[in-house]
Amino acid sequence: MTNIEKNIAAVRQRIQLSCHKAGRNSDGVTLLAVSKTVPPDAIKAAIAAGQRDFGENYIAEGVEKIAALAEEAAQYGLQWHCIGPVQSNKTRLVAQHFDWVHTVDRLKIAQRLNEQRPADAKRLQVCIQVNIDGSRSKSGIAPDEVLALAQEIAKLPRLQLRGIMAIPDLLAHTTPNDVENTINNSATQSIYTPARTIFKHLNALNFGLDTLSIGMSADLEPAIQAGSTMVRVGSAIFGSRS
Ligand SMILES: *Cc1c(COP(=O)(O)O)cnc(C)c1O
Repeated sequence: MTNIEKNIAAVRQRIQLSCHKAGRNSDGVTLLAVSKTVPPDAIKAAIAAGQRDFGENYIAEGVEKIAALAEEAAQYGLQWHCIGPVQSNKTRLVAQHFDWVHTVDRLKIAQRLNEQRPADAKRLQVCIQVNIDGSRSKSGIAPDEVLALAQEIAKLPRLQLRGIMAIPDLLAHTTPNDVENTINNSATQSIYTPARTIFKHLNALNFGLDTLSIGMSADLEPAIQAGSTMVRVGSAIFGSRS
């Protein structure tokens, strides 16, 4: 087995164990492999290990890899997720090349994505990024503005609203060495409470969301405990980036 295969197996085991502890079925958690800065050959190794969902932060870099792996995408039904910030001048690339975008936090961006999504493509799958840290982090919409944005996105025919995404500021820069310190940490779990509350609130209003995109390499256990349905894991699969 390559390291990547071993790492994916280990991450899947962590997901399974966390689901078991949380009394959840592990089918309810999708592993999104974050392949930013990773070359196409490493992504191919992950595909060989059965991985199908990949996340990219930098749009130009992501588009290059999506093109390089077009055959694999068709053969294996790969899903490409944009998980980085989307500026207005990048919406066309996202609408044309990605399957998902997790980082919509403004109506203007959603409207552009809707207009620019090609007619022959499936609807673009969308999560609203929520700022759960107050003023500390720069991206994401404030929790009390999510409902209004969700109502507007639900009207856009080329987009499909799937859920809520959050990146806790404190965990945005952790390294694999921090993993032991952060897993199973109930303080980490409570960081995600606002994201879960919004997710449940929208579903009580019949938005029919199925995606709560929370949890990364260092904190997927508490995120699953907090209700994550999609964990975004980079370094624990592909190794340290720096
Ligand atoms: C890089 C990144 C991840 C993955 O982080 P790791 O700690 O490497 O697992 C997840 N989500 C977002 C938004 C990222 O930018």
